Amino acid sequence: MLTASPRSSPVTPTVDLSARGVQHGHLRLPYSRDDSAWGSVMIPICVVANGAGPTALLTGANHGDEYEGPAALFELARTLDPAAVSGRVIIVPALNYPAFRAGTRTSPIDKGNLNRSFPGRPDGSVTEKIADYVTRHLVPLADIVLDYHSGGKTLDFLPYAAAHELPDKAQEARCFAAVAAFSAPYSMKMIEIDAVGMLDTTVEEMGKVFVTTELGGAGTASARTIDIARRGAGNLLKHAGILAGPPEMAPTRWLDMPSGDCFAFAQDDGLIVFERDLGDQVRAGETIARLYPVGKTGLAPAEYRAAMDGVLAARHVPGLIKAGDCLSVLAVLKEAP
Ligand SMILES: [Zn+2]
Repeated sequence: MLTASPRSSPVTPTVDLSARGVQHGHLRLPYSRDDSAWGSVMIPICVVANGAGPTALLTGANHGDEYEGPAALFELARTLDPAAVSGRVIIVPALNYPAFRAGTRTSPIDKGNLNRSFPGRPDGSVTEKIADYVTRHLVPLADIVLDYHSGGKTLDFLPYAAAHELPDKAQEARCFAAVAAFSAPYSMKMIEIDAVGMLDTTVEEMGKVFVTTELGGAGTASARTIDIARRGAGNLLKHAGILAGPPEMAPTRWLDMPSGDCFAFAQDDGLIVFERDLGDQVRAGETIARLYPVGKTGLAPAEYRAAMDGVLAARHVPGLIKAGDCLSVLAVLKEAP
């Protein structure tokens, strides 16, 4: 009988992940195509290691149109002093590099949504090969993983760091302690619409500490959200003991997503007119937005009302919306976990 042996990854790192000091290089992923027969995708990576201590893996642009992660991590990679490090920091500022270069959520090569492609495949698409390398070669090195997200071009969020409810309550507590140390203006106990294929789930199932974020969106990053992202990375490295000193704590408001009632989805195409802004408190039954049919005048808009009391934590960004698009996300203020 044939037994399947795991195929090795086609990705070659040009840095030595076990060496001391600072290294800037690439994860080289062969990608044969019309304009480059033996070409590659070159994903930037930086490793900073010194002395004994834990390993942190910091990733941005898992979705290519989310910018706080790359903004914080290209700067961190340039400035992190190895003499200040106890342990190792692996920085990949633009994980789905083809998507990042195209300014799109998914890869222009294979339309792969990296954060729906985990654990990945060594013999799959370019996006699946990136996921597989991360799953089998980077995450196992890490004690703590921070994966930056924001809303991309189509969503905007209150700035928060987040972790998930986990079956292992000790692991869950470690994740929320790391979220608290990140010290974003908001901290979220998050549920996912669709957790299959996410880096989050892959890291959590390996028993690691995992922190994600949603730090804004609308296809850009602001001075404020970049500052939150930068301070958060430093705080997490201090929390892990990789950098010395206590995290720079700032006030945070804890949010919970208690059920699927948090999410509202457009039921038709049209013009979306929000009646509330991010951070506003709404009560169940109050109107969040009106959706106008745009084919002719004289038609009443559909009212989208809050299914629960909460804070508007996310909203659709473009002025036009399509049936099935996520229109809004509500969250509930709560005590710290
Ligand atoms: Zn994202």
